Amino acid sequence: MTENPISSTHDLIIIGAGPAGIEAGLAAASAGLDFVILERGRIAENMRRWGFVSMFSPWRMNVSPAGKERLGLEEVDVESFPTGSNYIEQYLKPLAQHADLQNHISLGVNVIRIGRAGAFKSTLIGNPARAELPFTILAEKLSEDGQWSEFAYSARAVIDASGVYGNHRWLGSGGIPCIGERANRKYISYEIADIAPFVERAERQLHFAIVGSGFSACTLLESAKAINESGKLLNISWVTSIPNVKPVSEVENDPLPYRSRLSKMANDLAENPPDWLNYKPGYEIIEIKNTEPNDNSAGITLRSLTDQTTTPLIAQRIFAMVGYVPDRRIYEELQVHECWATSGPMKLASSLLSQQGADCLAIETDGETLVNPEPNFFIIGAKSYGRNPDFLIDRLKDQVATVISAISIA
Ligand SMILES: Cc1cc2nc3c(=O)[nH]c(=O)nc-3n(C[C@H](O)[C@H](O)[C@H](O)COP(=O)(O)OP(=O)(O)OC[C@H]3O[C@@H](n4cnc5c(N)ncnc54)[C@H](O)[C@@H]3O)c2cc1C
Repeated sequence: MTENPISSTHDLIIIGAGPAGIEAGLAAASAGLDFVILERGRIAENMRRWGFVSMFSPWRMNVSPAGKERLGLEEVDVESFPTGSNYIEQYLKPLAQHADLQNHISLGVNVIRIGRAGAFKSTLIGNPARAELPFTILAEKLSEDGQWSEFAYSARAVIDASGVYGNHRWLGSGGIPCIGERANRKYISYEIADIAPFVERAERQLHFAIVGSGFSACTLLESAKAINESGKLLNISWVTSIPNVKPVSEVENDPLPYRSRLSKMANDLAENPPDWLNYKPGYEIIEIKNTEPNDNSAGITLRSLTDQTTTPLIAQRIFAMVGYVPDRRIYEELQVHECWATSGPMKLASSLLSQQGADCLAIETDGETLVNPEPNFFIIGAKSYGRNPDFLIDRLKDQVATVISAISIA
């Protein structure tokens, strides 16, 4: 008899142990499901990469009733803003160690693909009978001897809470890599970074390019401002495709004061650029090349979106704050109806697009939007918004409750 290659079988597999995966695990435990969370790194691996940044949503918005109850938190300091690291250390890690979760999380397990045992994407189209076939999941784990081992899991339901951070967009015109972008990867940070140590270590005066006009770009500008105000010199070119003097959207009567302050600070810099700031609104990047040998700088070519003229720029580092996209390959064999504009699940994307322009706090979605044609397969968390960057942890309370109650594995 051959050995059964299925490593383990469960009611529910949750992919990712970020805020969404942890909250989904708590709800699964309450519902009495046999579940496992597969996480490719450590707890909240993606958030750790920006852990030094202060969150713009206050504590009260980042904790759920289920999480507070498990940790015995009577009341959190509702209006203070944790850094990403504070949030992991004081909330997500203690929850991961709670009796309801600790034996249900497998760390260092990277999910590669999810399929239906015995059915391709194109079989039983839209047929509820697919629910009778278990999901099959291929995952890999690096062992202590440096070898990758593969595992297969089987489950009746799957929640994809794998986020988007880590799958960056490209810098070039139209969202594809520009000439030289891939070859000169060593000059580019696609994730936010603490820039102060770069300046401390530098043996010469540095010039960085910051590309984008979202909150990550604003956070870097705030750091650059503080560095320059402290007497050290850091030159910045701020490149955005938005042609406006105020490129960052400001929310009227913003209920999130930290976000409000950050966007106003960045727009003030754009309106009245100080000596250290070269503000380039309405430009796209068409080429990145290596400069002189040993110069350790990138030569960037910008093209104006208004008159097509080109401008050269030299920077020792490019911070590409241009957003992230969901990794759809892991569920490409499933029947997921996706939005052609955001790559998020269609019903939710359509609800979000119909409220376009509204502040992320004002957006309303109902539970039905998380259901898609593949029975018992759900996408939650940041990934459920696809390319739309407006997801907030606060949304998880509704998302998790809806999805756990929609799972049907009888
Ligand atoms: C700089 C910055 C500041 C932010 N500030 C806020 C804020 O103040 N408030 C707020 O609400 N949101 C904020 N966000 C958005 C925030 O990232 C999300 O709200 C939150 O992290 C989403 O949680 P998630 O669990 O959906 O995804 P993630 O936090 O990205 O977690 C996904 C997890 O899945 C794991 N994973 C990925 N692929 C696989 C795989 N194939 N196999 C196994 N595991 C996998 C990852 O390692 C990760 O641990 C901020 C984002 C950034 C970048």
